Amino acid sequence: MSNAKQTRRVTPASSDTLLTILETLPDAFFVVDDATTIVYTNASAQAMLGATREELCGTSLWRGAPHLVSPSLYQAVRKTRQTREPTNVAYVSPTTHSWLHVQLSPTVGGLMLHFHEGRAPTRRQESFSQSEHLCADILENISDWLAILAPDGMILAINQRPLEDAQVRREEIVGRSLAETPWWSYAPAVLQRLRAAIEQACKGETVRFDSRICPQPGWYLDLAVTIAPHFDANKQVEYLLYVGLDITKRKQVEDELRTLVDALPQFVWIARPDGYVTYLNQRLLDSLALTHEQAEGDGWLAGVHPDDRQRVWEAWQTSIQAGEPYEVGHRMQDGTSGAYRWFLARGMPQRNAQGTILRWVGTCTDIEEQKRVEQQLKASEENWRVLAETVPQFVWTIQPDGSAMYFNQRYYDYTGASPEQALGHGWSQFLHPDDSEQARALRRHLLATGEAYEIEYRLREGKTGNYRWFLARAMPVRDETGQIVKWFGTSTDIEEQKRAEQWIKESEENLRVLAETVPQLVWTARPDGRHEYTNQHWCDYTGLTLEHFQSDGWAHLQFIHPDDRESNRVLGQHALDTGELFEHEERLREGQTGAYRWFLTRALPVRDEAGQIVKWFGTSTDIDEQKRIEEALRESQERASTLMNSNIIGTFVGEGEQIVDANDTFLRMTGYTREDLRAGRINWMHMTPPEYLTRTLEAHKELAAQPSLAPYEKEYVCKDGSRLPVLVGGVVLEHHPRQAIIFVLDNSARKELEQRKDDFINMASHELRTPLTVVKLQTHLVHKRLEKHSQHEAATALSRVERPIEQLERLIAELLDVSQMQTGRLKYIWERVDLDELLREIADTMQRMSPSHTIVVRGTVQTSVTGDRDRLRQVFTNLLSNAIKYSPNAKTVEVELSASEEAVTIRVQDHGLGIPREKHKKIFERFYRATGLSHETIPGLGMGLYIVAEIVKGHGGTITVESDVGKGSTFTVTLPRKRDA
Ligand code: ADP
Repeated sequence: MSNAKQTRRVTPASSDTLLTILETLPDAFFVVDDATTIVYTNASAQAMLGATREELCGTSLWRGAPHLVSPSLYQAVRKTRQTREPTNVAYVSPTTHSWLHVQLSPTVGGLMLHFHEGRAPTRRQESFSQSEHLCADILENISDWLAILAPDGMILAINQRPLEDAQVRREEIVGRSLAETPWWSYAPAVLQRLRAAIEQACKGETVRFDSRICPQPGWYLDLAVTIAPHFDANKQVEYLLYVGLDITKRKQVEDELRTLVDALPQFVWIARPDGYVTYLNQRLLDSLALTHEQAEGDGWLAGVHPDDRQRVWEAWQTSIQAGEPYEVGHRMQDGTSGAYRWFLARGMPQRNAQGTILRWVGTCTDIEEQKRVEQQLKASEENWRVLAETVPQFVWTIQPDGSAMYFNQRYYDYTGASPEQALGHGWSQFLHPDDSEQARALRRHLLATGEAYEIEYRLREGKTGNYRWFLARAMPVRDETGQIVKWFGTSTDIEEQKRAEQWIKESEENLRVLAETVPQLVWTARPDGRHEYTNQHWCDYTGLTLEHFQSDGWAHLQFIHPDDRESNRVLGQHALDTGELFEHEERLREGQTGAYRWFLTRALPVRDEAGQIVKWFGTSTDIDEQKRIEEALRESQERASTLMNSNIIGTFVGEGEQIVDANDTFLRMTGYTREDLRAGRINWMHMTPPEYLTRTLEAHKELAAQPSLAPYEKEYVCKDGSRLPVLVGGVVLEHHPRQAIIFVLDNSARKELEQRKDDFINMASHELRTPLTVVKLQTHLVHKRLEKHSQHEAATALSRVERPIEQLERLIAELLDVSQMQTGRLKYIWERVDLDELLREIADTMQRMSPSHTIVVRGTVQTSVTGDRDRLRQVFTNLLSNAIKYSPNAKTVEVELSASEEAVTIRVQDHGLGIPREKHKKIFERFYRATGLSHETIPGLGMGLYIVAEIVKGHGGTITVESDVGKGSTFTVTLPRKRDA
């Protein structure tokens, strides 16, 4: 369609004549459009090309007329198109080898080309013709493969070799794209590479690459291809020059080499001069677990340890830039295991004759083992150095000639010397002048013999200028042949040790002085126990000399009491065996008197640095006095404990209410066990019956105030609930004031006796009362009868019997009262009692009976109390009769009455004998009578006040006495006005 349009335009209907002319022309005539597509050919052109118009029209000129294609024509077409000016060009047809003269004229939207086959150009054109031939020659000979391509890759010219290789004719190829040729189109990858190269060259670059082409099926050739652009005057790419160098042989060699290289145990790589790695052998790729594509260029860096990457890259770049061999150690990852190993990478530039670097060839060698050994070595050297620098000694090495090679920093710090001063033979200047010669001599001798040596010398401290003692030790270091290569030595500061030695020496002396001054017997013995030294005291005590003891190490044994010798021997042997403290109390004979005294002998071992016992140091201290005291103490303790543990007295230790300790007797008495005691289950408060509680608390108060407690009677409730009458006394412990020792005496036997006595009295008084009543009654009847019969004399005589009978009656009544009170059987008959009246009545009665005294009653109570009239009468009768009885020389007895809101008070006062203060309490006890000459003459049984006190108590009242001997007594009775019945 497009062709028809074009044709119509250049062949207008009116130009049929012109067309006919063109058809008849003997020269070939073409019209092409801007894409160089043929739109018209005349008959001659068709004849020349051997094709029909239909075949030619619509095809590219280059493709349709390969006989005519040449770079000259191509250039001319470009030029005409650019300049829009007619152009002439003459060239030899590469196909027909005939000269072609071409006229090119621009048309609207295309070109017109007029080919004229003719002779060689005219003279004017000679040079041009020559250059055209030269060009053809060059094309043929310059290279195996040479072609001129249009910028789009179309073949404009090609030399013979490739045509032969592929067995094609030129016209089959020319005008086609190079990529479409059989050499290249057999494999997409190869094709791709070529197209990319053409595209690149088109942009003005020269592109080089190796490629494998296939001229014929099954036959391959390796080419080193260069595609270079050719620029026109406007710097536009006019066409491309394609050069292929047959490198098949080289490639073969290379392949073989590669196989060889791949088989090498080494990692091999090749890089371009710019550092781009083009090849890594299989082994290297396998190790990295990378494909060739991944590893090439700088992809291999991924396998280098991240810490080494920067360093490796920089070294590589430096080598590339400087063209210097590349060598760097780095860790590389094993792509499979992920582990890193050390490698030594090496690369050498390969240069041509001119010295230009062609490529880099390199290897990577596994140096892991070497590196490890190196590191170990380094570490061990480092260790040695660290050790040498850290030990608290000086460390040095010297050569067999005695010159120093090394000192640790400590040495320099101490001596203040610089390495220059100390190394070599300089070190000897720091020795003490007194030691240096001797030290040097010994060292010389030992260096000669090669024995390890040890020497003490003083070394000057740089800072202070003082010398300190050092112990130097050195060991020879020999090579395999046994030759001493150096001495390794240390110097240890032994100044303190030296001083300590000196101190020990001095202190030993001091010790000897001390041993002589102390009051003890002092001795030292050898490790086997043999005495080697005894102080003067020992000698004085035993009467032997020091020489004696020194000549006989066992001489001391004879002074030990025969009974103590065995124990001394056993303990001594134990101490010698174990090195433990020896301690023994033994009797030692005094040489002069032959008497034994007790001594405490103690001995301790003295050890050396290694802990070996070097001697025993012992003392014997006189403890005779102490022993005696101890013995006395032991005896007294024994006595005390005998008492304590006797089955007579129960004792316990009380703290608070608790009994914290007790003897067996107490436990047996009360029925408690040791277990109860331990568990804190014995409490004296709980053991005290309620009626004894007041008295017991009083007793404890007494103990708190004074060191001892006077014995008192009470009862304990035993564990089984039974009552035990006891007599209790106690003392406070001097060193433990909160604790008291209480003595408990079983009182049950006495109590039983008392009971029997009470029973007897009770029974006797009962038994006596009945006959006495009969006697009284009969006497009364006889008296009345005698009076009746006026036998007054007989009656008077009889009345003398009546009074003793009354006394006897009262006595028996009192006895009965007492026994009733004892058993709690006394009964009261409660009624309102007018005390004023009662007392006056008593006073009257008493006055009548006792004319010797005047009874004075003062005051009134003006009230009545609730009470037992007869019993109250008994109280005051008793008090008044006592007052009269115990004041034989007095004239008056006074009774004083008073009352308050709550109570009435009756005081009975006499001016008689009085009562000693300590007996004030006792007189209220049963059968108690205050002794003393004046009292004893006055008859009585000691029951009255007991009964009085009991009755007053029974009325809820109190009775007290105030009295002084010789001044009389006052008994005060207080009764509550109201009694809670
Ligand atoms: P008795 O008078 O029968 O001996 P009591 O019980 O009445 O017995 O008195 C006890 C003791 O108290 C007497 O033995 C006496 O020593 C003393 N006593 C009692 N009243 C007086 C008093 N008023 N003056 C001095 N001593 C007295």
